[in-house]
Amino acid sequence: MPLFVLLSLYIFVIGLVFGSFLNVLIARLPRELSVVYPPSSCPQCGHRIRFYHNIPLIGFILLKGRCRDCGGKISVKYPLVELLTGVMFLLVFLKFGISLYTLKYFVFVFLLLGAGLTDVFTAADPEFECGIIPDTYTLGGAVVGVLFSFVTYPGITSSLIGAAAGFLSLWVPAFLYKKFRRQEGMGGGDIKLMMMIGAFLGYIPVYFIVFGSAIIGSLLGLPLVILKKDKNYMIPFGLFIAVAAVVYIFFEAQIMNLMLPERL
Ligand SMILES: [Zn+2]
Repeated sequence: MPLFVLLSLYIFVIGLVFGSFLNVLIARLPRELSVVYPPSSCPQCGHRIRFYHNIPLIGFILLKGRCRDCGGKISVKYPLVELLTGVMFLLVFLKFGISLYTLKYFVFVFLLLGAGLTDVFTAADPEFECGIIPDTYTLGGAVVGVLFSFVTYPGITSSLIGAAAGFLSLWVPAFLYKKFRRQEGMGGGDIKLMMMIGAFLGYIPVYFIVFGSAIIGSLLGLPLVILKKDKNYMIPFGLFIAVAAVVYIFFEAQIMNLMLPERL
């Protein structure tokens, strides 16, 4: 097998393993539980999951989607999160090759997946009042984004301005909305997520991502509200921000030409 194919396969498997870890983070961070202890167990019968059933994707297939001990159904979202993370890691590697940018975007995509998926899963979970985006991804991620900018594009100045621009781009509308409508429109998690994105990508993409997420939000959010039959249903806006940021990293050149045509 050519080395490149082998390497791509290896990256995909690494992505699956990180996806498996992401499942733990998604389940535990919004509940403020430890992410290292205790080991994974069946949410229905509490039996500890055997290590060979914990292998990403393969474990789910071996178990045919059911707990070995109680026969309870295992949610299909676990293998889907693993698969999605594996595919995203592979796409990052195929785009950025063997470079520091691949490492940077592995981390960035992992944080976006964590933030976006936790937001949408907690929004759908009756245990929570609305979608939650844990600070670990956003505030922790912003620090990591700034650190990467010492050694990668867009550089530390743009990264710091980006973090501020990201924060303000959603804080200002949220503040105005609250002032005039006297109710919460945008969660603090969304604002911190946009700050993290600015720290990773610099200030220029912030405008596109705010704009892009608003478009995705109105395309997908409106049907969601209608489906839920609840006009106060809080759409998981963090998910749309994360999707817009992922689109940006893969189509940066095309988007920039579209937004700043005089640069051509
Ligand atoms: Zn069980």
